[in-house]
Amino acid sequence: MLTKTADASRVEAFLRRLTLIHEYEVIIIGAGGAGLYAALEASKKAKTAVLSKLYPIRSHTGAAQGGISAALGNVEEDKPEWHAFDTVKGGDYLVDQKAASILAETAVQAVYDLENRGLPFNRTPEGLIDQRRFGGHTRNFGEAPVRRACYAADRTGHMILQTLYQQCIKNQVSFFNEFQVVDLVFDQKKCGGILALELATGEVHTFKAKAILFATGGFGRMFRITSNAYANTGDGPALCLRKGVPLEDLEFFQFHPTGIYGMGILITEGVRGEGGILRNQDGDRFMEKYAPKLLDLAPRDMVARAIMKEIRRGKGIKGDRSIDDFVHLDATHLGKDVIEEKLPEIADFSRTYLGIDPAEKPIPVQPTAHYAMGGIPTDQNGKVAADGKGSFYEGLYAAGECACVSVHGANRLGTNSLVDLIVFGKRAGIEMAEFVKDADFADFPKKRAKQIEAQIEKLKQRGKGACPEEIRLKLQKTMTQNAGVFRNGKHMEKALALIQDLREDYKKVQLQDDSKPFNTHLLEILELGNLLDLAYLSVSCALERKESRGAHAREDHPERDDENWLKHTLSWLKDDRVSFGAKSVDIDKWKPKPRVY
Ligand SMILES: Cc1cc2nc3c(=O)[nH]c(=O)nc-3n(C[C@H](O)[C@H](O)[C@H](O)COP(=O)(O)OP(=O)(O)OC[C@H]3O[C@@H](n4cnc5c(N)ncnc54)[C@H](O)[C@@H]3O)c2cc1C
Repeated sequence: MLTKTADASRVEAFLRRLTLIHEYEVIIIGAGGAGLYAALEASKKAKTAVLSKLYPIRSHTGAAQGGISAALGNVEEDKPEWHAFDTVKGGDYLVDQKAASILAETAVQAVYDLENRGLPFNRTPEGLIDQRRFGGHTRNFGEAPVRRACYAADRTGHMILQTLYQQCIKNQVSFFNEFQVVDLVFDQKKCGGILALELATGEVHTFKAKAILFATGGFGRMFRITSNAYANTGDGPALCLRKGVPLEDLEFFQFHPTGIYGMGILITEGVRGEGGILRNQDGDRFMEKYAPKLLDLAPRDMVARAIMKEIRRGKGIKGDRSIDDFVHLDATHLGKDVIEEKLPEIADFSRTYLGIDPAEKPIPVQPTAHYAMGGIPTDQNGKVAADGKGSFYEGLYAAGECACVSVHGANRLGTNSLVDLIVFGKRAGIEMAEFVKDADFADFPKKRAKQIEAQIEKLKQRGKGACPEEIRLKLQKTMTQNAGVFRNGKHMEKALALIQDLREDYKKVQLQDDSKPFNTHLLEILELGNLLDLAYLSVSCALERKESRGAHAREDHPERDDENWLKHTLSWLKDDRVSFGAKSVDIDKWKPKPRVY
């Protein structure tokens, strides 16, 4: 017979296990702009929870500086149709055009919704939302730059995140903060739930759900020079990939022209939007050569290539670091007042990281890995596609940077990501709330949490093994060197072979910390696994696409090839085998033309 104490501890263990099991109709993974907006909508009708590995307002959306685009026409004439066209042309015609029209048309109301929810936008003297220029945004189908970016100084993303988080709290959305999702459960093609590690305790929690939305953001951390936060490790796409979900257009990664030299920290395009100029070693405004009409405000892929070309022809400025040369971003003529009022963060960054005042000295910049155009393939309501033929998974959704709708095609325009989060985050939230009304909970294998715990235990017991920090650094270096602004087959093959070796090393990786609470080393190792898989797939896709389009610039295939490559790439990864498929591009209005700016 059991003693009283043994009885009590069994009951205690049973009760504790119960606290690790949760059931929600809708689970949203990620508390950036996309996740929070989806939560706001879904929670109106369905029992909704948001899980985030970060405290919500630390999500990368909070780092967005420059603005959110919408054709409000507050400062000069503008139309959603011009916005949609710019988006399609900016994306080098790989954009799905109906989705781009939805983006541009809904953007206007989306910005007013944010305003009504309390977002403190900068104002015109008349009290309207102020707007500034941004790369590739034009009036009348490419005639001249237009003021389309709405902004709150250079802290637009920060304001969006604060506003949405406050609204979610008000609407009583349940938050599980500092919970890192480590597994996705599928019942055949149906979604059952997820498993997550609680940072504070190290416990594995089970979350059953009828619908799951991935809104986990980007994966710029696979590069050494990047504007992305440490948390941007592509967990969502990698978890989906392991369950057989294809990823779309992974070869397209955006390099933002103006990262702080050697560090990659972003200097917003808003600086050029306010009149900042890029100059080479001789002080020449070199963009006059590359984009005579839009100059410094040409789309990012073109400006990044122009900078690299200047550096390659010896017109860069020599730095004291061993990585390439740089060019200057000159904002000295804007004056102290404009800089302090409209670009205060940039002034702060320049003082903190470079010890210079941008009102007095130009900022040394070089391209920095910034944005993943590709990701989890979805329709216009966030539903995840199982192939390129129109099949979808039941209950699985994605939105934001981790998703591919595709409104950014081969190159995203500045300020179009924030609007993508709001427009498609909202649509996904509404769709999920509708879906769960008639849906049942799928079976959730009871043993799954125990299996994950056992895997972690095995890792802890491993003893000596490969160093994860070394693997990560090698990965990041090869990605920046061989899969950057310019690419070629020979270099990418070298990178692919190295990444393959690193994936082998990763199988023997050593966990240095065997404690349960706040085991950040464990979480970093899991994130590294995600980065390795996504990098492997990205380079494979980049090798496969034998043309140059948008941000994917191949020196060995320098032309855009619409005949063979006007299609989205779908790719799968099973063990080490990559397979490819295609998805057609929706071209309903504008036939592809050469891009001239
Ligand atoms: C420096 C910088 C400046 C930018 N400026 C602009 C701009 O001015 N305008 C513009 O349009 N775009 C800008 N962008 C791009 C834009 O900010 C991002 O694409 C966008 O904010 C991504 O939002 P998101 O909601 O998809 O994800 P994020 O905001 O990145 O949030 C991801 C969320 O997922 C959670 N998460 C991730 N993995 C897990 C996991 N395993 N378990 C649980 N939770 C997880 C994180 O905790 C986080 O809450 C900028 C980007 C950067 C890096």
